[in-house]
Amino acid sequence: MTAIALVAHDAQKDDLVAWVGRHIAVLGAATLFATGTTGKRVLEAFPTLELTPLKSGPLGGDQQIGAMIAEGRLDMLIFFVDPLTPMPHDVDVKALMRLAIVYDLPMALNGATADRLMRTG
Ligand code: PGA
Repeated sequence: MTAIALVAHDAQKDDLVAWVGRHIAVLGAATLFATGTTGKRVLEAFPTLELTPLKSGPLGGDQQIGAMIAEGRLDMLIFFVDPLTPMPHDVDVKALMRLAIVYDLPMALNGATADRLMRTG
């Protein structure tokens, strides 16, 4: 079973929910994890998904995803990053990018890349 982590900064959460809807066939067959608020939003829209919410990103959820990457428990990371708003936990994005490189994990930072990852499995 493919394990996919989902994260979206606040301004991108609507986009991520719409993206999940576009790829519901693939995501419905995957094991999903998400940072807290992102997971709540996705589950509100698609309650039947198998999705485990972690802590909220700024409170350590991004770090939990980093640990999962290091433990080899993820196959893909989708992180819809807000490029326009300064935020206290923007270092988390860099930390996750670094781990994705270290472990050669497919990681999408925007919708176009995330769409491509869905097409390539
Ligand atoms: P959230 O965290 O899903 O709890 O909002 C995302 C983030 O900002 O890292």
